[in-house]
Amino acid sequence: MSTAQHLPHTVEALLADGTTVTIRPIGPADRAAVLDLHAERMSDESRRMRFFGASRQAPQLAADRLCAAPRPELLALGAWVGGELVGEADCESVQGRPDTAELAVVVADDWHHRGVATLLLEHLVHAARQNGIRAVEADTLAGNLAVHRVFTDLGLPVHRHLEQGEVRVRVPLDETDEHYREAVDERGRRADIASLAALLRPASVAVVGASRRPGSVGQSVLLKIRQAGFTGQLWAVNPYAAEVAGEAAYASLGTLPGIPDLAVLAVPPIAVAGAAEECGQAGVRALVVLASGLDAHTAGQLMHACRRHSMRLVGPNSLGIAQTDPAIRLDAEFGAVWPLPGSAGVAVQSGGVGIALLERLTWLGIGVSSFVSLGDKYDVSGNDLLQWWESDGSTDLALLHLESFGNPRAFSRTARRVTRRFPILTVDAGRSPAGRRGAASHTAAAATPTVAREALFRQAGITATRSLSELVDTAALLHSQPLPSTRCAVAVVSNAGGVGILAADACADAGLTQLELPPDITAELRELLPDGSATANPVDTTAAVRPVELAACLDTLARSRAVDALLVCLVPTALATGPHDDPVRALLDGPARRRVPVAAVLLSQEVPVRYLTCSDGGRIPSYADPQAAARALAHARDRAHWLTEPPSPEAAPPPGCDPRSARHLVEAFLAANPDGGWLDPALTVELFDCYGLPLTISIWVPDEHGAVVAAQSLRQLGHRGEVVLKAYWPGQVHKSTLGAVRTGLATDGQVREIFREFTERFGRQLTGVVVQPMAAPGLELLAGVVQDRVFGPLAVLGLGGTATDVLDDRTARLAPLTERDLATMVTELRGSPVLLGHQGAAAVDVAAVQDVLARISHLATDLPQLAELDLNPLIARPDGVLCVDARVRLEPRGSFDPYLRRLRRPAAAEEVREP
Ligand code: ADP
Ligand code: MG
Repeated sequence: MSTAQHLPHTVEALLADGTTVTIRPIGPADRAAVLDLHAERMSDESRRMRFFGASRQAPQLAADRLCAAPRPELLALGAWVGGELVGEADCESVQGRPDTAELAVVVADDWHHRGVATLLLEHLVHAARQNGIRAVEADTLAGNLAVHRVFTDLGLPVHRHLEQGEVRVRVPLDETDEHYREAVDERGRRADIASLAALLRPASVAVVGASRRPGSVGQSVLLKIRQAGFTGQLWAVNPYAAEVAGEAAYASLGTLPGIPDLAVLAVPPIAVAGAAEECGQAGVRALVVLASGLDAHTAGQLMHACRRHSMRLVGPNSLGIAQTDPAIRLDAEFGAVWPLPGSAGVAVQSGGVGIALLERLTWLGIGVSSFVSLGDKYDVSGNDLLQWWESDGSTDLALLHLESFGNPRAFSRTARRVTRRFPILTVDAGRSPAGRRGAASHTAAAATPTVAREALFRQAGITATRSLSELVDTAALLHSQPLPSTRCAVAVVSNAGGVGILAADACADAGLTQLELPPDITAELRELLPDGSATANPVDTTAAVRPVELAACLDTLARSRAVDALLVCLVPTALATGPHDDPVRALLDGPARRRVPVAAVLLSQEVPVRYLTCSDGGRIPSYADPQAAARALAHARDRAHWLTEPPSPEAAPPPGCDPRSARHLVEAFLAANPDGGWLDPALTVELFDCYGLPLTISIWVPDEHGAVVAAQSLRQLGHRGEVVLKAYWPGQVHKSTLGAVRTGLATDGQVREIFREFTERFGRQLTGVVVQPMAAPGLELLAGVVQDRVFGPLAVLGLGGTATDVLDDRTARLAPLTERDLATMVTELRGSPVLLGHQGAAAVDVAAVQDVLARISHLATDLPQLAELDLNPLIARPDGVLCVDARVRLEPRGSFDPYLRRLRRPAAAEEVREP
């Protein structure tokens, strides 16, 4: 174990049954608790079955070992529920083998089979890895099945061997394999769902702060719950009234005839913390807090009550929740509409958006499976709900409005899985045009929060719309129509030529494939349609078309293999004398679901989108604006595309990556520079070497003589025998704009001249000069990575060199990059044709570019302290790539494992910590 021990933080996480447990390091102050756990809370039998044999003095020894002054070779974590120690796991490095640790786990008898040991081990494994432990070992009694199961369930490779009658278990930790992550995910998912049941399928609900004042939030929620026909017990809590809106009221939670699963707190902010604590003590399992504007102290107390008493929390600042399952029928929100029962899961951060969205969905006729107004998201987040919907058996469409992400990497992991089953739609809220101007590296300037969010959505297969209207438009299509094929060639049919052209333009704008109808289809259409019709795409049936003719035309197109989607634009005409002449009949009388998706555009329609109900009962979305229809089709196409691509594995670390040495370098730098900063050229070279990044040779020299000597030794390596001089001073930003880069120097005289020019121009700030061989010309690219505090590392590839900003051509992905990310990043730049070989020019070595991307992705994921890294230019040629300018900035930062199971800790509630 390294001397600088990384102590794990205090975190809260969920046990298998949804109970909240606090995990934190055990210290000297916990002696009494450890003694109690080992002496009182375990039977002799369990003590014998402990991982390390057992002895009569075991409790004493354990307390001595775990609660002495902190020792760098020992990591010990405890699991607390409601302030009581229920389990402990520790590992202590083995003498003489600092990268191996002896493991022990103990769980109180009455807490067995609830996942305490597994959760403790997950966190211990993480902490052990952080501290350089590569394997843990334990002795287990050969007959102890439970212990074996814990190890197998953990999902880590377990090696067993018999040693003097005892089974010795060895678990190597240095392979972060997908299997382990999946096992952790699966446990997290089950625990999460168990904990959310009290919230979304409660058998009893109390409204705390149910007011007698009509129109108050408390009374509205109470009335809505009752009127929606909640199937469980409903109680009103109000200390000042015996009855609220016809419902008997109780003075306090303690006086209720039963324990509510869920409490809706409709009390003012000042009373929230007290009410939450009261709920916790009464045994409530979930809270919805409607109040907004909690101060930090109240926020902290609220969180504390929830964690201590195992309550999941929605809000504060929530509009409420709704569950439409007929077995529950809970409508505990104070919006204006009653959500219809259905299969759309809806979660919103802003209550206003929630009201608007519910209204539109209700109006449109899309029902909701469950609705949650997340509010300030202290605890329950979009990620929780995705997991709930994934397995609630009724949701087949998720609609999210999220303004912020607590743990985007965990969210992305869940979303990637869920989007394979049903669409997740979101409004990409909070786009800002302003990049991070003035950022020191091009990579950082390119990596705005918007870029990171877009990358997250794209990588997870989430359908991101640009407005609430677009979200509803798209939901209307995805919810009623089959997906098109990935080609999505759209046939446009209209009864008025001009409208058809507008629709065809809209399709082009949305990036949909322009379809040319095959001759046999156009011939068939000519037979079917009135004289004067245009039978090429867009098809113009003329206003004279009769519904039967139009229906036949639509059938022909829908059956054709050339057509992947139908856009039918109809305007009412004076020629229609009765309802049976109405061209819309052609749609209504036909089947709603065909082989291909169908969308209608009725320009005269007063609402942006609605459903047309067909005679077979199915629905076709109808839009007032062809642009809206085309955008919805484009989203459907993108989803179809996403579904055809199998999940891509993370790109494997290329050969020659040495994270250990890199970690040492970074730790040493941060020890000397506690606030972090830019690496100097020498350290940059060293770090790049650890990851096998192709950096040109750079010699740093302090004086003119050194420059000449360096140039002489490098000249033969340089293109045309030339070298490059770069003025260097710490903290410099873009060198060439200041005249600090001089290329193509062929003679000693030139080197001397430029050196003198540098000293004159930059004076005292100049600390030296970097000499490099002149690189052969090639395509200048930008490759880099920025660590976002919330999103994690974001890898960027673009056209680079001194014109980076003008070209403004880049693409970004959240790391770790997958094989597919590597494949698509190099093909989706505007300038990609140049990379891939353009007009007879040879392609650059694309594999080498991808190799660099894979290396920086690993570098950034291995080293959370890497704040930004910028290779600009990375000169790409047919025979390889070479970086001639690299900048790296480090920041002190602890490691954060996005996959470790833990509950959120909202910033607002940071103030109050565990006692
Ligand atoms: P900065 O980005 O700080 O302005 P660079 O070191 O990237 O400075 O140099 C600017 C430009 O000079 C590069 O984009 C590249 O075109 C050219 N250049 C720099 N170093 C070399 C080199 N060793 N070989 C060839 N060209 C170089
Ligand atoms: Mg540069």
